[in-house]
Amino acid sequence: MVATVIDGKAVAASVRERVRADVEQLSAELGRPPGLATVLVGDDPASAIYVRRKREACEEVGIRSFHHEPGGSISQEELLELVVELNEADEVDGILVQLPLPEQIDSDVIVAALDPGKDVDGLTPTSAGLLARGEPGLVPCTPRGIMELLSSAGIDPAGREAVIVGRSNLVGRPLFSLLLGANATVTVCHSRTRDLPEVCRRGEILIAAAGSPRLVGAEMIRPGATVIDVGTNRTDDGLVGDVDFDAAVEVAGAITPVPGGVGPMTIAMLLSNTVDAARLRHKIAATSGRPT
Ligand code: NAP
Repeated sequence: MVATVIDGKAVAASVRERVRADVEQLSAELGRPPGLATVLVGDDPASAIYVRRKREACEEVGIRSFHHEPGGSISQEELLELVVELNEADEVDGILVQLPLPEQIDSDVIVAALDPGKDVDGLTPTSAGLLARGEPGLVPCTPRGIMELLSSAGIDPAGREAVIVGRSNLVGRPLFSLLLGANATVTVCHSRTRDLPEVCRRGEILIAAAGSPRLVGAEMIRPGATVIDVGTNRTDDGLVGDVDFDAAVEVAGAITPVPGGVGPMTIAMLLSNTVDAARLRHKIAATSGRPT
């Protein structure tokens, strides 16, 4: 058996189309386009590329972006002042502070200062708490994108065994809440998990988000499982995931590639979250269904 390869680029393109239509309608209702503020601090080249891609994606769907690029030596106080200013700016519906931040700044303090209503990365303690309680709020982009990928592949998590490798605030933990909310039976693994292969083999849905190249081999996959590879590891062989794709494709039922799987969904869901944030702030009901 060879697994179906889930095409993240195609799913992301359809999400962007949906967002474009939503933005058009929302712009008419608000009398202005929804707005996303991006904040890039320091000169990390990868961060600069990510932020540029996010701004370009906004432009493509009609979201207005407001870019701020304070110097890398900005103090925590000054960055907090910028966050407060953006929290109060009426034309800004979402705020994205690109992480990591320079070492003189405590990113937890900055993230916690964001207005949860504008927290399009879903990283504030308020957003995390709402998600953990199963209440409406803004959800981190990558986990939300993974739920959308599962749905596009026709996989309903209800009643299924789902195994997540990784427990970060960015991926593993929010994904746990989303899968639990979708009625899966969820196990979360981490670096102290005993017998990782045995636990992974339970998963009808297996999500690898460990940041360890090709950690998940064929022997860790339940035959026919849906395997979602979140890992993006730069190695001498180029960009590789947390799953040994060539081996896994022979065992899994469906699998995401790296690149071209989860990655493209992250930016698409940021756009979707910006629309959701604008609607929530202005109490405008959604006409198309929420993707997750
Ligand atoms: P992270 O904060 O480093 O967390 C990694 C998690 O994996 C930790 O919980 C760690 O356990 C666990 N782990 C690491 N090695 C393990 C092992 N050998 N066995 C079992 N568990 C292990 O990473 P992250 O931010 O969640 O990111 C994970 C990966 O996804 C990275 O490759 C990142 O680049 C990628 N990513 C991709 C996207 C995208 O859009 N495609 C978005 C976000 C992240 P402990 O908690 O015990 O340390």
